[in-house]
Amino acid sequence: MTDSGAVRQRHGVAIIGAGVIGSALAMALGERGVRVALIDLDLSGRLSSSERNAGGVRATWWQPVNIALSRESIRYYESIRAEIGFRQNGYLILYDDARWAEALRMLPMQRDLDHPIEALTPRAVAKRVPEIDHLDGIAGATFSAGDGLINANLLKAHYRAKARAAGAEFIDRAFVHAIEAGASEARLFCWRADAPLADAQAARMLTQDDAGEPALGRMLEISADAVAITAGAWAPNVLKLIGLDSPTEAVRRQLCVVASRTVTLERYGMIFDSSGVYFHNDGPYILAGYSPPEEPAAYSFRFDGEAFFTGEIWPRMYARASCFERLRLITGWAGLYEMTPDRTGILGQVLPRVFEAHSFSAHGVMQSYAAGQALADLIVTGALRNPEVRALDRGRFAAGKLVYEELHW
Ligand SMILES: Cc1cc2nc3c(=O)[nH]c(=O)nc-3n(C[C@H](O)[C@H](O)[C@H](O)COP(=O)(O)OP(=O)(O)OC[C@H]3O[C@@H](n4cnc5c(N)ncnc54)[C@H](O)[C@@H]3O)c2cc1C
Repeated sequence: MTDSGAVRQRHGVAIIGAGVIGSALAMALGERGVRVALIDLDLSGRLSSSERNAGGVRATWWQPVNIALSRESIRYYESIRAEIGFRQNGYLILYDDARWAEALRMLPMQRDLDHPIEALTPRAVAKRVPEIDHLDGIAGATFSAGDGLINANLLKAHYRAKARAAGAEFIDRAFVHAIEAGASEARLFCWRADAPLADAQAARMLTQDDAGEPALGRMLEISADAVAITAGAWAPNVLKLIGLDSPTEAVRRQLCVVASRTVTLERYGMIFDSSGVYFHNDGPYILAGYSPPEEPAAYSFRFDGEAFFTGEIWPRMYARASCFERLRLITGWAGLYEMTPDRTGILGQVLPRVFEAHSFSAHGVMQSYAAGQALADLIVTGALRNPEVRALDRGRFAAGKLVYEELHW
């Protein structure tokens, strides 16, 4: 497949998708002296999950591989704390009877993996966060002081600046619509728009419903030693281009920015309630989210506004803390979770010259540093430095070796 009018480029590794995972990989490859091209239909990332998340960072997981990825990333985030707005005010997770016994059972394993975490009684929760005054149904809580909140945009900008300094090339408004992975090289066939696309058009293209209009752009052919697919919720569509399936599903998740005249959560990090609502301080406001379990898989960015706020968010927050009686919805948005059947990310090699890292679901920001480093190691040396990361290989689905992450919302 060759287009005689196409512009041609040659790179060491071509990365498809410049969200937080692709950008972390670009930095990691740059550190290893590899010349990369980072390709995205929209480098500003308006539809990307990296733009639409809650900024939570935690090593509090129930699967060792998720703890390891977050711990390694947190250590890095601590080293650039001010630059990326990393605030380690902790994660408070409240459990009902059904889950508390399991949460307690996990503590020794979490501590063994170098993740300090406390168990709190309901009374200790009320003392630590006096705003929480309805503790009925709460059997206990965990508090992990090293977890916290991050500015995902600043983190992505940090990765990109490092990658750029190492010579990475950023190719904007380019949509990858075909891939040939040969024995000696991989080739990507892209359509590059002359002007930025409207969100609706970008959304249509990303689901591979539209290969681009040649009159409004030009064809671009990129050859590389290797290709990395870091296309987030759209990774299954990119994998289809090389005849591979992915079990990942895109699921809409909504966040609300709410105002309270009386409450500030400034002193706290993330608070997860047993009802599934989570919230944290966000500048002068509070950012709150909830993941309805019945939400169907779809590439939907519709924000349900007041209906979502009054139907799902507010009742749960008010049931836990009477100070939330008067909250006002300021704004909100929807973004995509990239959900695997076991709620854990996918990272590994898929063909001799093709690699993947995606589907980190609700943990892509917090695990991006370690994921980028792991995949860069695999591409450059053929091996994973941290053997635990092998658990993320796609082969686990066919082999029935799921890494089911229960502590996921
Ligand atoms: C509401 C919500 C809350 C969240 N909260 C948290 C949280 O608190 N903490 C946390 O760690 N994570 C959270 N997440 C998850 C996190 O945001 C994601 O896991 C992470 O951003 C995924 O990054 P990514 O780089 O894999 O994908 P994305 O950021 O989605 O980037 C993928 C990129 O690939 C590009 N692309 C796709 N296909 C093509 C193609 N064919 N050609 C060219 N470009 C292509 C897209 O344009 C896009 O820019 C949340 C997500 C949502 C939606």
